[in-house]
Amino acid sequence: MEQIKFTGIVLKSVDYKEKDKLLTIFSLELGKITATLKGVKQEKAKLKFAAMPFCFAEFVASNNNGFLTITECSQIESFYNIISNYSKSVVGFLLLEISCIIMQKQPDERWFLTLINFLKELEFGKSDENILLLKIMLETLNKVGYGLSFDVCSECGLKFVGDVYINLEMGELECSACASINSKKLTRQQFAVLKLISETPLNKLSTLKQKTEVLEALKQILKQNLNLRLATNLKSLI
Ligand SMILES: [Zn+2]
Repeated sequence: MEQIKFTGIVLKSVDYKEKDKLLTIFSLELGKITATLKGVKQEKAKLKFAAMPFCFAEFVASNNNGFLTITECSQIESFYNIISNYSKSVVGFLLLEISCIIMQKQPDERWFLTLINFLKELEFGKSDENILLLKIMLETLNKVGYGLSFDVCSECGLKFVGDVYINLEMGELECSACASINSKKLTRQQFAVLKLISETPLNKLSTLKQKTEVLEALKQILKQNLNLRLATNLKSLI
């Protein structure tokens, strides 16, 4: 039986048969894969930690006609602070859920790094969790080809001067003249905050401080847009 090695992060773990778990792992080398972890529900199972979401590790698996069984796992990072803190875990689980939806069996080094960098900021950084959440949603929109353009109206191409609307049918920002019944108005403050978060790189995000109610309102608007763009109903977003 062939042995394969890969570096990955556990996105999802579900019960499988009596004592096993079925893991969804996003790996650097193979993209999104599923693998079984045998006997992990037994009291003294050695690799229990490998069945936890957020487990970032080097894995060894045996490959039996495409069915992978994990045989070894050495942890690189546990992301314990994320798991043990409610507001951090909400953001972390959203990242895992999104990665599970948008990643396929092909490797995607860029998204792998994006995922790890966001988790590191969440674990060790000082960024406001709600700002990180919005940044993740904006990055996801970019990744799936629906990045928001903050400079000009997507319809008429003119610079934004007055009110700005988000067209939920198209997933684009537009001016008041182009807004339709499917458009939702962003207040000036909401628009400015979203633009700022979009323009600020991840490593500078901790310098931003914004009002909770503005961030909450933006979260609800982007949630609607993201669910439509991904044709899903993100469970981690409340
Ligand atoms: Zn316009």
